[in-house]
Amino acid sequence: MTTNQYHPETLAVRAGSEATPFGENSEALFLNSSFRFSSAAQAAARFGGTELGNIYSRFTNPTVTMFQNKLAALEGAEQCVATSTGMSAILACVMGLCSAGEHIVASRSIFGTSVQLFSNILKRWGLEVTFVSLTDVDAWRAAITPKTKLFFVETPSNPLTEVCDIQALANIAHKAGAHLVVDNCFCTPAIQHPLELGADIIIHSATKYIDGQGRCLGGAVLGSKALMEPVYGFLRTAGVTMSAFNAWVFLKGLETLHVRMEAHASHALALATWLEAQPNVARVYYPGLVSHPQHQLALLQQASGGGIVSFEVKPKAGQTEQEAAWALIDATKLISITANLGDAKSTITHPATTTHSRVSAEARAEAGIKDNLVRIAVGLEHVDDLKADLALLK
Ligand SMILES: *Cc1c(COP(=O)(O)O)cnc(C)c1O
Repeated sequence: MTTNQYHPETLAVRAGSEATPFGENSEALFLNSSFRFSSAAQAAARFGGTELGNIYSRFTNPTVTMFQNKLAALEGAEQCVATSTGMSAILACVMGLCSAGEHIVASRSIFGTSVQLFSNILKRWGLEVTFVSLTDVDAWRAAITPKTKLFFVETPSNPLTEVCDIQALANIAHKAGAHLVVDNCFCTPAIQHPLELGADIIIHSATKYIDGQGRCLGGAVLGSKALMEPVYGFLRTAGVTMSAFNAWVFLKGLETLHVRMEAHASHALALATWLEAQPNVARVYYPGLVSHPQHQLALLQQASGGGIVSFEVKPKAGQTEQEAAWALIDATKLISITANLGDAKSTITHPATTTHSRVSAEARAEAGIKDNLVRIAVGLEHVDDLKADLALLK
């Protein structure tokens, strides 16, 4: 199906689907590692690339291909490369597009494990990374070297929901001959289209909202055919391939993406508005709030504020900031204490001692992640039940 003919909601349900001769209406799960050829000549043609078709599920698998085509249609990308996790999507992107001695400029407000990958692991292989403030456009410009290949951002960022101007950063990157990579995990294509805003590459952790119910790990890299060719080349050789079973779960997840994201965002806005009015809350971070520093920009780039709300708890007399945050978290009975997000179940996290605990205290302070900061990934429960679970804030 051509992607510009239908609305996004329709693409989420219909794009990418291909039935076998049995005519199943729900996508089939191909749980096979290899594919059989009709002759030695056909095997040679498949391996030689003169005949298109499946060879081995580390390279391609029909269920994974359907997932890739559906997500590509939703993001408006020429090609999608599905990966085993969100982290392996970032790894495949960098390994496909960068070499030793080259340079990446990354936002300092990215997923904690992405910081580890860049600064501890890829550095050992000769890649240089400079971290800058997401919203300081001049800092991005100043960080460029003749070796800069990629700009890497998350917008909104985790956990402070900072929003950057994608088009402005894309322009700076392109002038330097570099590509802008946007980790679109927090928004999904239901809320934000980075490629339309000038970005070159999109990263997803499918583990989050694309699954939507906390079942499977997976990821994806999306962009032009030319940029995805070396990314796919790394994947099929290194083997960070998405499992067919997980692709099948994500195919089902994507069908309901738009209705889920609308519900996550409306619940999050209601909760953020309530949090802002509570006496024991010092500050709320949510792009959908008028008080958010980049609220106007978020309105331009995003269909909604998304489902992630962070806030600072006011410590009571004699309490440290961390004690105040932990007391609130430990008092919850309904909300799950877990670092995951994008689930139907609301989750609550203390970033400073979990997702960002391996980031040095100075780097956390510089990024503005305080010890009293709590992040909630707002799920699909009734908002009044979430408010009741956070009664300590009243
Ligand atoms: C979770 C997450 C990742 C990593 O994804 P995994 O599937 O856990 O490997 C990357 N970026 C962001 C923004 C995330 O939230």
